[in-house]
Amino acid sequence: MTGTKYVFDDIIVGGGLAGCLMAFELISNGRKVLLIDEGQAHSSSAVAAGIINPITGKKYIKSWNIDLFLPQAVKTYREIEKLLGITILYEKNIVRSLPDISAENQWESRKLDENYTNFIKENADISDFQNEVNISGNLAEIRQAYRIDILTFITSLCRYLEEKGGFLHHTFDVNLLKIEDKQIGYLHFSASNIIFCEGHKGIANPLFPDPGFALTRGEATIINIPESRISKMIKDEIFLVPFGNDLFWVGGGYENVSYPEEITSNHKKIVKKVISSLVKVPFETVEVKSAVRPTTKSRRPLVKQHEMYPHVYYFNGLGTKGSSIGPYIAHQLAQHLLSENNTFEIVW
Ligand SMILES: Cc1cc2nc3c(=O)[nH]c(=O)nc-3n(C[C@H](O)[C@H](O)[C@H](O)COP(=O)(O)OP(=O)(O)OC[C@H]3O[C@@H](n4cnc5c(N)ncnc54)[C@H](O)[C@@H]3O)c2cc1C
Repeated sequence: MTGTKYVFDDIIVGGGLAGCLMAFELISNGRKVLLIDEGQAHSSSAVAAGIINPITGKKYIKSWNIDLFLPQAVKTYREIEKLLGITILYEKNIVRSLPDISAENQWESRKLDENYTNFIKENADISDFQNEVNISGNLAEIRQAYRIDILTFITSLCRYLEEKGGFLHHTFDVNLLKIEDKQIGYLHFSASNIIFCEGHKGIANPLFPDPGFALTRGEATIINIPESRISKMIKDEIFLVPFGNDLFWVGGGYENVSYPEEITSNHKKIVKKVISSLVKVPFETVEVKSAVRPTTKSRRPLVKQHEMYPHVYYFNGLGTKGSSIGPYIAHQLAQHLLSENNTFEIVW
């Protein structure tokens, strides 16, 4: 391509969880990757708790395709830890309150179902920290649940790529993209493929119009509970997630998207009230954050190959479950890019 100075195998636009998982899969297979990101501070990935919860909802059913996604997720995050010399995968049970008789019955029936055995702890146990939290009634405890430290992952991966000349801090302008038969050109860069992983901003990507988003905004409050012994994730009206060093992530609210993304003082008051009723000991609010999740109408991810340009891809719509779904999609898409196949079809 004329004027090109830097040649890559793949360009990835967006350095949130999707883009970084994609980059990891590709560099692990020897590809030369350029990751472009304009700043992750307000991305969904930077605000997320990173929970992988195998049993969800009021009916306590398995999360979509969890038996397929979980083994790949654990494998991928362990490999990332090894490559980057960081810890990001924490196995932590989830304790949930069972609010009424119907919930108790549902949970008891799951206990009898052998497909759920791996995910259920027979007797929930909060004895180590019951003087710190207020969860009433009977409890359920979910095993094989995890927390991914997404922020450490994405910042470490971008630093790793930067050291190798594979990261560009820049706002990608799709109007400057040159798509040729078998090549992509952008500024002084060229590549064989481009993968768009722009999170909620992908709604405005003209190459993939009307992708099917139903965006939602979520808030997270980071609190400090001095000398806390809370070691499990707790799901009541909200989620309380141990982040280490006496810090806890609290959140889980949903709101159809509204711009601008500021947190209202009213919201802060509500959250503080809810936290105060769950946490029995003194705590301090450290930070309140907000972001737009790339949620979709179908509640399924958006993984596409462009109809006219087969070397242009879209990896988005991770919704509320990026930590568990992301690694599987990134693996599948990377395997396709490494293969000789022209057409990409994800196998669920
Ligand atoms: C409050 C909250 C709690 C959550 N909790 C969980 C949870 O517990 N478990 C879970 O699995 N998921 C959770 N999520 C969802 C999770 O955050 C997402 O599934 C996932 O992180 C989405 O990643 P992404 O890379 O698709 O998008 P994003 O994280 O939004 O990343 C997109 C990136 O693209 C970049 N970008 C966009 N446009 C451009 C451009 N033109 N040029 C350059 N860069 C660009 C942005 O800077 C950003 O870094 C939560 C989300 C929120 C908001």
